[in-house]
Amino acid sequence: MCTQHDDPYKQYQAELIEAGLLIPSGVRGVYGRSGTFENIIDQFEGLVTREGAFQNAEVMRFPPIFPRAHYARIDHINNFPDLMGSVHSFLGGEKEHQAMLGKFEAKEDWTSALSPAEVMLVPAACYPLYPTATGTLSAQGRVVDLKTFVFRHEPSDDPARMQIFRQREFVRLGTPEQALNHRNDWLARGQAILESVGLPVKKVLADDPFFGRGARIMKATQREQDLKYELVVPICKEDKPTAITSCNYHLDHFGISFDILQANGTPAHTACIGFGLERIALALLKTHGFDPQRWPHEVRSRLAMA
Ligand code: ZN
Repeated sequence: MCTQHDDPYKQYQAELIEAGLLIPSGVRGVYGRSGTFENIIDQFEGLVTREGAFQNAEVMRFPPIFPRAHYARIDHINNFPDLMGSVHSFLGGEKEHQAMLGKFEAKEDWTSALSPAEVMLVPAACYPLYPTATGTLSAQGRVVDLKTFVFRHEPSDDPARMQIFRQREFVRLGTPEQALNHRNDWLARGQAILESVGLPVKKVLADDPFFGRGARIMKATQREQDLKYELVVPICKEDKPTAITSCNYHLDHFGISFDILQANGTPAHTACIGFGLERIALALLKTHGFDPQRWPHEVRSRLAMA
């Protein structure tokens, strides 16, 4: 056994690093991933694709950056300012460049010479979709299959709390019934998928880390309106399970923000399920061990590994 830590988060992190599954970068919560780790994600995604095939979803892939102008139309800055990621670059001329280099070489803070670029890092995989969906939906609405890296600035030694990680989502845009059914159906289906690979998940109402003065009200509203559920499973600590999948009903929030309309002309309702791919891989590794060749046969066969 490798280095022993009293902290169960640091302990699992050290084990993953010693096994070569995660490659530390020197910044907390930012890692490279090994081929074994990536293969677990690929195989799990294959399972999600097979289970979701009946939806005939439109497949779209957006990059992990999106327009600052679109960021300005969601309320992330109100609720999660401490988690955001903004991209900056150097927009000056020769004179400013020399000044910045002077600071850089003197090991002073040179980043004050940077200016905001036109993009932000994506905080949730479905956010880049909504600005592209402006307009009126058909009566059937839409189902979209998404996956991208998302960024959350929360440096941590908990290996399940990465600063940048992938979400695989199925998003529904349509009537209130279509959106709510999608959320509820996928909550049950997501639970069944995770249980079928040996993860004993529990369904809980979410408790998002809203920021500042409005936090108490936002938390209460989220709970009272029954908007967000998470599927949780112990990873590092038995009594502090980690959310590995979330199922969200956004009401007409994005419909209003991005002028997405139902066929009847009223703002569309949206819902999504998001699988946290790194966390699912970490939960599988914790539950079944670090060598996928030796995982239980049922799990391997479900993941098309055998
Ligand atoms: Zn989403």
